[in-house]
Amino acid sequence: MSSPPSPGRKTLPARGQPWSELHDALSALRSADTDWRHGRDSLDVYYAGEDVLDVARRAYAMFISENARAPQFPSLQRMQDDLLQISLSLLGGGREAAGTVTIGNAESALLAVRSAYRAFRARRPQVRRPHLLVPASVHPVYEQAADMMGLELIRVAIGGDYRASVQTIGQCIEAETMMIVASAPSLPFGTIDPIEALGRIARDRDVWLHVDACIGGFLAPHVARIVPAVPRFDLSLPGVRSLAADLHKFGYAANGVSVLLYADADDQAHQLFEYDQWPKGLWRSQTLSGTLAGGAVASAWAVMHYLGETGYRTLAQRVMHLRDRYLEGIERISGLHVLGQPDLSVIAFGSDEFDIHAIGDAMQARSWHISRLTAPAALHMTVTPVHDQAVEAYLDDLARCVLAARS
Ligand SMILES: *Cc1c(COP(=O)(O)O)cnc(C)c1O
Repeated sequence: MSSPPSPGRKTLPARGQPWSELHDALSALRSADTDWRHGRDSLDVYYAGEDVLDVARRAYAMFISENARAPQFPSLQRMQDDLLQISLSLLGGGREAAGTVTIGNAESALLAVRSAYRAFRARRPQVRRPHLLVPASVHPVYEQAADMMGLELIRVAIGGDYRASVQTIGQCIEAETMMIVASAPSLPFGTIDPIEALGRIARDRDVWLHVDACIGGFLAPHVARIVPAVPRFDLSLPGVRSLAADLHKFGYAANGVSVLLYADADDQAHQLFEYDQWPKGLWRSQTLSGTLAGGAVASAWAVMHYLGETGYRTLAQRVMHLRDRYLEGIERISGLHVLGQPDLSVIAFGSDEFDIHAIGDAMQARSWHISRLTAPAALHMTVTPVHDQAVEAYLDDLARCVLAARS
């Protein structure tokens, strides 16, 4: 007999409720959520329109019960294979390249760090405390991966251009350095790190270079067709050993699907985990979770085939055009300045005149979801296609909030 539930803790309802009531209840729960459909979210929703969402939703519903990592669903194996081949084609994978579909960058990061660690260990077993070396702008998920693996991570200052400093990183490489992680672009500043130069150093010093292209992976290849000056960061660059890209960001798939790619399948071999000392015999896994949502995989597959190259390029064009409108609008407001030169659609802006976070508070009071940086203090956003509905209103409100802060 189990003990009675703690007072005040929610319990399972005694009797089930019909969907009509649940739909109303869910809609009510949603009432305080940010209205992303009209461009009021600044960070976490990648919405390319009702038609794209509808394709993703239908495909998700078709495979909602299937586990994409269970072998009895060859359909999902095939879809993952297609997603990987398309990703490798977009991101410079050569003949030797390979990859894995993952749940998101947290899983990709942990797997990449473990692969790099095992590759390093195989070559230099005598090194006591191998470490990761990263520019300060790298996402904390790599900090978390290092922590989980009991590895040290050394963060070094970035340059005045808000990019990784090739010089600083070069100076900090030691015999214990097993891995460098750089971003394309970094989440805080939207700048693509100098991957080509870092790749040269990494190769010369025999250090694994991993590229976190979560945001840029499925945007930059299409932007590069329009804006030739986008810095390169893909698997074709010498020294880049692995790269992570989120299908659930600018791939416009449902949440929970991403890819981890390797320039050389031999490096991916380190990813495998095998164990046979339990009652069910040999257990082999290339990933962390045994379950990957079949619906998320199917949504990515369907959206990629629905949009095709032309669809993604049109959206990329729209995103970059919108990005320019935001940048121009922000620069036009006296007292505000954009940080650095964002390469894609992540932007950050601050002020030397007033407390930018107070401006953020005032914007939030006007129902904008506001993403922030702390060092330096700045407001931050990822521009997506849906922001065409919001850009004018956002800039008007921003100008009003700045004006109010002045008086
Ligand atoms: C979104 C993001 C992450 C986290 O990835 P998830 O797939 O959301 O776990 C890591 N790094 C960068 C640069 C990101 O933009």
